[in-house]
Amino acid sequence: MIQLTDKVAIVTGGARGIGKSIALKLAQAGANIVICDVLDNMTEAVSEIETLGRKALAVKADITNAEDVQAVMEKTLATFSRIDILVNNAGITRDNLLIRMSEDEWDAVIRVNLKGTFICLKAAAKIMMKQRAGTIINISSVVGVMGNAGQANYSASKGGVISLTKSAAKELAGRGVTVNAVAPGYIQTEMTNHLPEKAKETFMSVVPLKRPGTADDVANAVLFLSSDLASYTTGQVLHVDGGMIM
Ligand code: NDP
Repeated sequence: MIQLTDKVAIVTGGARGIGKSIALKLAQAGANIVICDVLDNMTEAVSEIETLGRKALAVKADITNAEDVQAVMEKTLATFSRIDILVNNAGITRDNLLIRMSEDEWDAVIRVNLKGTFICLKAAAKIMMKQRAGTIINISSVVGVMGNAGQANYSASKGGVISLTKSAAKELAGRGVTVNAVAPGYIQTEMTNHLPEKAKETFMSVVPLKRPGTADDVANAVLFLSSDLASYTTGQVLHVDGGMIM
């Protein structure tokens, strides 16, 4: 079994959905968890982590705000003295066809998914470089590789996350810090529950494993990349998509 005993992990958007599953999975392996989210209510996630016998810190923060993110890093260091793992999971969608997409819809998605990931990655990298150790996992998406009609903003942001991951991996490798991405496919969460039935059917028709993924499937991949088993893996994209892309 993978052990993360006493490691300290920050999970953005960790109050619900895939982020919460990641937070719980890392806690089950022994890590103490810092959840940062724009959601006010993080008590459920915190109490579930504490029930596992791990420490949990919840910090309300908008990842697009560098001051908020700096406060997350400072509170983490004040509480746990180090940061071993950062999971950049927070993300949003504002779907629309390209010719109908407003600049606001474009900007909102790029700001959270790409700029927010950059802000968190930069803030954690400074600390991890000093520690000469750490691992960063960015949650991308299958559509960041293959594109998707109606999601020009989202797929551009998630493609950008992959390029950001590779550039950061090259810059930080010399200081013992790894950076990887996980690209989930069609995962059953609140984000995808809102998709029209037709879109769900279209996704399922291209999934060789013939089932939607679960938040736990994504969390398992993050657990592996967070662990010493992945210590020689950096700049990679791990697809968790039932074989959609191969
Ligand atoms: P959810 O919407 O369920 O959860 C995302 C969390 O991030 C929410 O708690 C949300 O808060 C929070 N969040 C949003 N914006 C910010 C912000 N600016 N600062 C801090 N927190 C924020 O999404 P999922 O769990 O479905 O997705 C998690 C990640 O996985 C995302 O990056 C998504 O793009 C990616 N992904 C998901 C797939 C899927 O099928 N579900 C497929 C591929 C990738 P609030 O609810 O208040 O907005």
